Amino acid sequence: MQSKKTQPQASHFINGRYVEDKAGTAIPVIYPATGEVIATVYSATPAVIEQALACAQAAQKEWAAWTATERGRVLHRAAEIMRQRNHELSVLETYDTGKPYQETSVADATSAADALEYFGGLAASITGEYIQLGNDFVYTRREPLGVCVGIGAWNYPTQIAAWKAAPALACGNTMVFKPSEITPLCALQVAEILHEAGVPAGVYNVVQGDGLVGASLVTDDRVAKVSLTGSVPTGRKVYAAAAEGIRHVTMELGGKSPIVIFDDAHLENAVSGVILGNFYASGQVCSNGTRVFVQKGIKAAFLDRLTERLKGVNMGDPQDPAVNFGPLVSARQRDIVTAYIKKGVEEGARLVAGGQVVDGAGFFVEPTVFAEVSDNMVIAREEIFGPVLCVLDFDTEEEVLARANDTLFGLAAGVFTADLGRAHRMAAGFEAGTCYINTYNLAPVEAPFGGSKLSGVGRENSKAAIQHYTQVKGVYVAMGDVEAPF
Ligand code: NAD
Repeated sequence: MQSKKTQPQASHFINGRYVEDKAGTAIPVIYPATGEVIATVYSATPAVIEQALACAQAAQKEWAAWTATERGRVLHRAAEIMRQRNHELSVLETYDTGKPYQETSVADATSAADALEYFGGLAASITGEYIQLGNDFVYTRREPLGVCVGIGAWNYPTQIAAWKAAPALACGNTMVFKPSEITPLCALQVAEILHEAGVPAGVYNVVQGDGLVGASLVTDDRVAKVSLTGSVPTGRKVYAAAAEGIRHVTMELGGKSPIVIFDDAHLENAVSGVILGNFYASGQVCSNGTRVFVQKGIKAAFLDRLTERLKGVNMGDPQDPAVNFGPLVSARQRDIVTAYIKKGVEEGARLVAGGQVVDGAGFFVEPTVFAEVSDNMVIAREEIFGPVLCVLDFDTEEEVLARANDTLFGLAAGVFTADLGRAHRMAAGFEAGTCYINTYNLAPVEAPFGGSKLSGVGRENSKAAIQHYTQVKGVYVAMGDVEAPF
């Protein structure tokens, strides 16, 4: 069922217009709730990639010459259009990813609009500094990097496209963005809206394709920076390829984040945080807190309440606004997740809830809870990227902090406790880029988001993102004669 609603005008958006080249490999777009093909796009051929990079390069100098206030104005306009079209964009996001409309209508185009608005507002405040050196002085210019490449994962196609576009464009860069081949539709809408708002042709371009297309973008000499959202194995390859050309990078990668719940925690809030941190987007969120450490005194009450709350799961057609739990994005992802569930059972973890694939053509897996998980089980060490929650027991603060940090990942971490001092000690001790006290998984544009250790380098959102889309030039100004030895 390819419908008008889901089939884009063409596969790529380059130089301000849709571009098609059916010589590329066909990529079927599948609605995860039914397994139906809802659109087809074609992978970018070398000619399409060349066109995108050439026009991004050609447009960059002029875009950077606009005043920052003017650039900010069009980003604001784009945010406004995005908000007006929230319903259509959310429906499309749901077709692309299978996430429930109940979620997409409040978390995707809205978050993208926030990013456009925030960086649009920040653009004109990006300044250099002045450094007095006796009579001489240095001033610095914070300049754009040039052509940036963005590469997206499939879990948040609209949000990822905008989280990269907004700071990149605010700083005067241009971008070629490659969405995940699994969710190629939404980034085209972001491109359309940016152009409708007044972003000049060539400034933001979208090309489709898999890792091969991504790899050819990353190694092109015209590219100054690569921002990837994806898995650690892909991050390793992209980081290494970018290093060949000494390119700037932002790496937003995977995680296996801890949530620590102390005996004195507000039980209901802790359960809510754990639900948000494990079952939103059917568990396909990079920062999910999938290792839930529960202090022994509250464990029974926590598991009882969590099991009770899981009765509120309403699984079904994600386009139905009453549905709050959707399918996984693909048959492949469903199979990866179910293999981990099988492994958890084999390893001796206790299955408390879920664990089953739901019959039918869609890729549904029940929200799954394991208890009595130990630190060295595979399900406690590897990123599953699905609705699988592991509960681990602990006794003391010192012990749990060491165990929470005993992972190669470092994306996020959370703590639930009524003890203020302990909450801040835990936040200071967590080896993670994004920490939460008495909540979990909120990602407002005003706050930095990103990982440490294998989870990544650089930060998205907040003022921190500006550092990653600009470079500093120092200009020395002499006020007197030049002294030389001969
Ligand atoms: P993935 O690594 O398979 O793919 C990510 C993107 O990289 C895709 O667009 C893919 O086509 C591209 N790619 C693959 N190989 C490439 C190569 N050699 N060169 C250039 N590009 C290449 O990830 P995924 O399965 O799409 O997404 C899930 C992963 O993303 C999870 O690990 C998740 O934790 C992570 N993620 C991280 C964040 C974050 O902000 N930290 C956000 C969302 C998802």
